[in-house]
Amino acid sequence: MHKFGGTSVGDAQRMLGDATLIAKAAEGAQIVVVASAMTKVTDGLIQATDEAITGDRRASLQTIAGLLKRHEEALDTLAPNGGPHADGVRTELNTIINELSDLMGAVVLLGELTPRTRDRIISSGEKMSIRLLAIALAKAGLQPVTLDADTFLETDDQFGEANPLGVVADRTIRAALTPHLQAGATPVVTGFCGIAPDGATTTLGRGGSDYTATLLASALDADEVTIWTDVDGVFSADPRVVPDARCVDQLNYREAAELSFYGAKVLHQRTMIPVTRKQIPVRTRNSFNPTAAGTLVNDRYTPGSHPVKAISAIKGQALVSIEGKGMSGVPGIAARVFRCLADQKISVTMISQSSSEASISLVVPAIEAPAAAAALKSEFRTDLSHGDIEEIVVEPSVGLVACVGLGMAHVPGVAGRVFASLGQACVNVLAIAQGSTELNISLAVSENEIPLAVRTLHDEFALHRMDTGADRPDGLDLMLLGCGSIGRALIEQIIDRHVHVFERFGLRVRIVSLADRSGYILEPAGLNREQLYAAMEHKKAGGKLSSLDDGIATTGPAQMVEAALEYRLSRPILVDISDSDVAHEAFMAALARGCDVATANKKPLADDMGVFESLQSTAEAHGRIIRAEATVGAGLPVVDTLEMLLATGDTIQQARGCLSGTLGYLMAALEDGTRFSEAVRTAVGLGYTEPDPVADLSGVDVARKATILARLAGMPSAEQPVELVGLVDASHSGIPIEELFAHLETLDEEFEAKVKAAAAEGNVLRFVAEVKPDRITVGPISVPKNSPLGGLQGSDNMIVFKSDRYNDRPLVVTGPGAGIDVTAMGVLGDIIRIAAERRQP
Ligand code: ADP
Ligand code: ASP
Ligand code: MG
Repeated sequence: MHKFGGTSVGDAQRMLGDATLIAKAAEGAQIVVVASAMTKVTDGLIQATDEAITGDRRASLQTIAGLLKRHEEALDTLAPNGGPHADGVRTELNTIINELSDLMGAVVLLGELTPRTRDRIISSGEKMSIRLLAIALAKAGLQPVTLDADTFLETDDQFGEANPLGVVADRTIRAALTPHLQAGATPVVTGFCGIAPDGATTTLGRGGSDYTATLLASALDADEVTIWTDVDGVFSADPRVVPDARCVDQLNYREAAELSFYGAKVLHQRTMIPVTRKQIPVRTRNSFNPTAAGTLVNDRYTPGSHPVKAISAIKGQALVSIEGKGMSGVPGIAARVFRCLADQKISVTMISQSSSEASISLVVPAIEAPAAAAALKSEFRTDLSHGDIEEIVVEPSVGLVACVGLGMAHVPGVAGRVFASLGQACVNVLAIAQGSTELNISLAVSENEIPLAVRTLHDEFALHRMDTGADRPDGLDLMLLGCGSIGRALIEQIIDRHVHVFERFGLRVRIVSLADRSGYILEPAGLNREQLYAAMEHKKAGGKLSSLDDGIATTGPAQMVEAALEYRLSRPILVDISDSDVAHEAFMAALARGCDVATANKKPLADDMGVFESLQSTAEAHGRIIRAEATVGAGLPVVDTLEMLLATGDTIQQARGCLSGTLGYLMAALEDGTRFSEAVRTAVGLGYTEPDPVADLSGVDVARKATILARLAGMPSAEQPVELVGLVDASHSGIPIEELFAHLETLDEEFEAKVKAAAAEGNVLRFVAEVKPDRITVGPISVPKNSPLGGLQGSDNMIVFKSDRYNDRPLVVTGPGAGIDVTAMGVLGDIIRIAAERRQP
């Protein structure tokens, strides 16, 4: 089923273009074409009736003549040399126009226009356009047959907004079309109109050709419906109102239905009804840009995508409020309201009732508001006179704005964001309603505030970047956990010096959120440079992220992940450069929701074995990646080497090395004769240690690195505690620094003696981690000065892998293994590796 909208059949050229599209589609498929009137023709017909009603016969006939001229011009272009087919169409056009002129004359004479006559008139546009389109199709080699739907598409007699008669219509549709399809012809059917029980022409409401197409599709069990229009598909908002609205690639039937109901003009309100049950997919495409994929509407729903997919709005509404304290607790009032409006055939677009039950608000089309108010006043006249109901107020010039998306269900906080953002934009919300399906939040606002409301909500949900979603190959969204020195270095590497890294890989990287212990800042479209620098300055000055203007306070890092993943991010990566003890909660939240993890924080992987295992299994279950290069040896490819060995089927016998830059520095200083306490003092002064030096001195940090290696290598030793001998006992952790130095001084002699004893044997002291399948040991040992570890300089790291393959001559990785910049680089490397792995072909 292919439906062409008004602009798609706007002139002869367009029709020829359509014919090419159809000819292609017709290769191997039976096609039915539905067409609208040429663009603006229905409006022209309505204008002519308006002119006729006011008695202006001349103007009315002139308008009709103008319409004839447009069609004749198109005919001349389509068939410049005439011919029997063209002549036949010319006669038909004239017959239609003559009838129109007669009808206009009658309207002028009677000074009245019945809905029945009006439908007869305004359905003429389609009758003319399909005949022209058929010429174009014939030129493209097809066998078109034109069919007027007001001869077979049975509806009730609600003129102007007729309802098709279900199975009856299905039967007559099949009877009308099947013989032509069987004969190999291509039916070209008028959109928009049908036939009342008494044979009069009805119409399905403005824009109703979409509905015609899906009605026919359902009756004929079509495989697919294509709605050709003048935009690429269904956008996240009306592109005329929100210039950066994006085409949504897929919608669920219910989302599309809700959007069209709430004013997304691209689809008629009832388009989805006939196809939903039969699950016939509907694709909206741009006949001006046929290579664009358009929007596919089907029964699919992808959880985890944007909670709100689109914003739509309807103008021309009025808010009717029934207020009175006497209403609370009285059953049946709402029922009476709706019954009396239904009796008047007034359709209610939105209902909301305050929980106190002291008011009921409903939104109706503005033209129906007077009738609605009158009906309500008459229904409730006794209640009004008794004062149970105090007043019935009509607020004209109201619009309805709706946020639509199946992803809203069960995602807390969406409504909060809707109202908070509107509040900030100073949009006054008159009434609100949320369906129990949580598919839609709709609200009434003053009509002139619609554009502002729609733009505000579009921004709030960052819908302008819908197309940079998970399926976009070059988007890369980072959520940063930690905003200390490594965080700052990473941000700087990303925004300045290393921007070319991403360019080289063709990646558009964005930092969408940044968290510290206190809270986070979030911008789903990407925090800009200014925001990032401001946050870093603020942190440097000792501030908390939560106290920034746009900062949000949290009790744990997982909340940042939850909030950020409410948006449809592009290949999101959680980057942990904190030393948070509870980062694993954020990892879990991220992995379970389709996000990869790069970490420099050792704790989540090194501390609790159960946590490590559940992180690994969650990652596996969701097909996610955890990369942890920077946890061991900063930027050095330690983990990478380990993984390479494992991946190639090698078996690691032992990984042994110096994994702490700080302790390496201390050992070198001791060797040069510096006293232990002095060496630590200098290291602290140079910023070489953790804020609490005991974390380094106790060896706990190295033990974590060793544990991570053992776990990643799958060694049984990972299950046992590390055999750790620290330079100082971990129990000194957290004591005041001077107290710590006093304690260190008591150790000076002991270290001096150890260094001397080692030197006597031609050895040096090194703080070594040894990871073997059966045990992990960490502590100071004496090694030959001329061994690889013995020759290590300053704060450099070294790791020596012995494996089945690298046995006689082990594999050595060495270089600067500590420091802010190299650690940040290690993280950056992981981010790029993840991105490369996630890259789509
Ligand atoms: P046709 O004549 O092809 O049926 P319509 O004019 O009825 O086309 O519908 C297409 C128009 O709908 C677009 O040009 C656009 O301006 C408007 N529109 C309103 N809301 C949306 C939306 N959410 N997505 C796409 N288009 C929209
Ligand atoms: N021509 C009709 C209208 O303009 C129907 C349609 O285009 O779908 O409303
Ligand atoms: Mg339309």
